[in-house]
Amino acid sequence: MAHRIQVPEIVAQIVLGPQETRHVQVLRLRPGEVIQVFDGRGGQASAVLRELEEGRAVLELAPEVQVQSRGAELPAPVTLAIALLKGDKLADVVRAATELGVSHVQLLVTQHAEAREIGAQKLVRLRRIASEAARQSERTVTPEVLEPVAIASLSWEGRLLVAHPGSQARVTELLDWQAPLTVLSGPEGGLSEQEMAGLLARGAQAVTLGPRILRAETAPLALLGAIAATGV
Ligand code: SAH
Repeated sequence: MAHRIQVPEIVAQIVLGPQETRHVQVLRLRPGEVIQVFDGRGGQASAVLRELEEGRAVLELAPEVQVQSRGAELPAPVTLAIALLKGDKLADVVRAATELGVSHVQLLVTQHAEAREIGAQKLVRLRRIASEAARQSERTVTPEVLEPVAIASLSWEGRLLVAHPGSQARVTELLDWQAPLTVLSGPEGGLSEQEMAGLLARGAQAVTLGPRILRAETAPLALLGAIAATGV
């Protein structure tokens, strides 16, 4: 498998700064070798390493540039809206959600959550985890992890599916890939009736994840797993 590195922009000649050059050095790449570059926004191409020196490397796009159309991406962007969770649980959720194909993770402040905010360092760490997981799972898009918003001010494009115990509809019945999709999962204490009513009034649809109550860190993965397992 060709080595993959993330670059700021895919252009004919790509000049890497110290941090990305470090990655090239860690991979022990030598001038003349071909590597895969991706920009984290869906662009991917083969490039040849032309120059390598301390803190600087130059790549040139291979003659037949193959910028993939969709690659390993889902047919439409999927956002995971997830309540802030206790401790380090979000790290695992973000890592797995990235593997399962999300384009954005929108953190949410909810009434029954014990966590009310997230520190700047923790957010940086979540972003790093998303970037690393995107690379590992051979995606061309690195999901954006967005600062928390109050659930009442969540805005979305297309459809919003909210995991809510006791609902009838199934995720897979509602997938049509005609528009972007947002899936929402609540905190340890669940979503309040008021929060649920607010979302439904704004056009959200409630979905079941089966008759068992899942933990707050399991539910988002069951939601995304159902989507990913459709094989698209
Ligand atoms: N104590 C809460 C459960 C919280 S579980 C209650 O009894 O309602 C945390 C979140 O996981 C929920 O807000 C919901 O979004 C999701 N979830 C857990 N199990 C689910 C299920 N069987 N169906 C749909 N959503 C579920």
